[in-house]
Amino acid sequence: MMSGFSRPYAAGLLAAAALLTTAACGSGSAETTPAASGSGAKPEVVAAFYPLQWLSEQVGGSDAQVTGLTAPGVEPHDVELSIQQVTELKDAALTVYIKGIQPAVDDAVEPGKSFDAATAVTTIPAGEHAHEEEGEHAGEEHAGEEHAHEEVSYDPHLWLDPSRLATVATKLGERLAAADPAHAQGYKDRAARTAATLGALDQEFTKGLSACKTKTLVTAHEAFGYLADRYRLKQVGITLDPETEPSPTRLSEVAKLAKAEGVTTIFTETLVSPKVAEVLAGQVGAKTAVLDPLESKPSGDYLSAMRDNLKTLQTALGCTA
Ligand SMILES: [Zn+2]
Repeated sequence: MMSGFSRPYAAGLLAAAALLTTAACGSGSAETTPAASGSGAKPEVVAAFYPLQWLSEQVGGSDAQVTGLTAPGVEPHDVELSIQQVTELKDAALTVYIKGIQPAVDDAVEPGKSFDAATAVTTIPAGEHAHEEEGEHAGEEHAGEEHAHEEVSYDPHLWLDPSRLATVATKLGERLAAADPAHAQGYKDRAARTAATLGALDQEFTKGLSACKTKTLVTAHEAFGYLADRYRLKQVGITLDPETEPSPTRLSEVAKLAKAEGVTTIFTETLVSPKVAEVLAGQVGAKTAVLDPLESKPSGDYLSAMRDNLKTLQTALGCTA
């Protein structure tokens, strides 16, 4: 429990403030909801990173003002918050985030005025490889309380399962309705529509991945656990943290497994250097293809990027449906 919010992140914030200016103003983006005519100020909803921003815009519609904390093209895991962003977050009617993705956000959110999407769904445990890595770090230098927030025991990448995101949409509709009772019905209606859209996407995935030659998914970073869980695939992540270089041991371990499972494609990601995946693909005699973990805004939106992911998966896994 954290009581009192005078925790000393001031020093970090001052340092981060220097980096700022670019990420601070989300209001210029095409993403923001158009101003509604009439009535007073709309409730401000701060979304921690892209998929949650997309979801908040769908559910908030013209009743809410949605701002994203993570600028397009930025890896959300290591996002720093400016003083202005922390103020924005404290003033917001609701902050939508997922605990375990962004330590800076986990530190800044206020209980009661925040919605942790991980609390709305059944989570899956973090990968075995994840524990290994955390164990190594913990051994180096024990930072105690400061790093406690990073060590969530579940995999936080839950938006890559559309059915779970549909559940989050419904819950978000309830939270927004409670925060802005005058427009409760609007939030609930849009949440229901969004959940239905995501349910249809889930059906496309279920059907599209029902008959495949291989079920093994070798990915650059372990972001696709929920997709694998939902559609009965097996994810083998080269690393957990996109910034970490895998050890030679890990690399040969994955190469061996990929050969044994007849893997034809090693997946790389939009925001991660493809080098490691290319080296591995060379060793295994496989191709590489890009799978978008949607941690940052895609060229289209959540739905179109997920459909692109589905096509990529169907080709790579040899699916016939
Ligand atoms: Zn990630």
